[in-house]
Amino acid sequence: MQETMISLSKLKPGKGMELVHKPIPSIEDHEILIQVKAASICGTDVHIYTWDAWAAGRIKNLPQTMGHELAGIVVKVGSRVKRIKVGDHVSCETHIVCGECEFCRTGQGHICVNTQVLGVDRDGAFAEYIAVPADNAWVNDKSVPFEYSSIQEPLGNAVHTVLSGPVVGKSVAIVGVGPIGMLAVDVAKAAGARVVYAIDINDYRLNLARSIGADASIHSLNEDVVQRIMELTNGLGVDVVCEMSGNAKALNQAFEFVKLGGRVSILGVPTKTVEIDVAKHIVFKGIQIHGITGRRMYDTWYQVKGLIESGKLHLKELVTHVLPYSKYEEAFELMESGQCGKIVLMFNQEEVK
Ligand SMILES: [Zn+2]
Ligand SMILES: [Zn+2]
Repeated sequence: MQETMISLSKLKPGKGMELVHKPIPSIEDHEILIQVKAASICGTDVHIYTWDAWAAGRIKNLPQTMGHELAGIVVKVGSRVKRIKVGDHVSCETHIVCGECEFCRTGQGHICVNTQVLGVDRDGAFAEYIAVPADNAWVNDKSVPFEYSSIQEPLGNAVHTVLSGPVVGKSVAIVGVGPIGMLAVDVAKAAGARVVYAIDINDYRLNLARSIGADASIHSLNEDVVQRIMELTNGLGVDVVCEMSGNAKALNQAFEFVKLGGRVSILGVPTKTVEIDVAKHIVFKGIQIHGITGRRMYDTWYQVKGLIESGKLHLKELVTHVLPYSKYEEAFELMESGQCGKIVLMFNQEEVK
């Protein structure tokens, strides 16, 4: 095997990322080496690419390979690895957890206090090869194309958010239909929601949401969102809100248009403290609020796998762009423009010598 590989790395603070050659990572006894075939771009990658305040405060280990949503083929396994075999097609849970803290030991690895994130705290997936703990590998059915299996990690965020309470027969509003919100629309429909409403400020994404089955789309700059939801729900509001925008105003609107006794599950991350009328919007409405982070290990992954195998998801429509890794600048520009669903970068597409 060759000794060096191509990686898309962040070399220094500031906007951008570079194509560099670096050594193929070596693996420890508990790790596996994956030949990456596809890696999708996450909002987190865009934060790091553009180097905003969050990235500047969070990323400590430059230079570092970026990316974390991947699919590939296992080419090497460490001496202690049993479950994963060379040749397996895998994706990865991006949270590397300790397995020893109170949360890991009580089935809550998604809030492990010692979490390390691929492509954030250590080298990531925008590369020809990546080394990860075998525990994090999720074995894929070989019939699923790599560009679709690479998006299981964000799909897991959507599944975790939508299914953190019942949705069958319910009205669901997805606030913010960026790539994860879009997946949430699809998951809610597939899981039996009665109606799903998509709310955003981006026409391209609202149209995409409609095309995969959202029952109504609401442009929150052009329309009064609360009034529109009330019209659609006989004045009662929606049973379930999935907040994917991280926008303070949108969050407050969500508390207004959620039904009495309803549920608000929040995945979107506001950049500042948000003011909320706790008495009016939470206590007296008797609602439930869920904070959603990561994916439940590995319950969420089994749900994701089952949903993909059910054939009910619109992965073809939601992966709007598949590009070779060399076109990463174009890919990130597209992400920043918002004129896209999920974008996937392909690696190792030529025959391996
Ligand atoms: Zn991600
Ligand atoms: Zn832990």
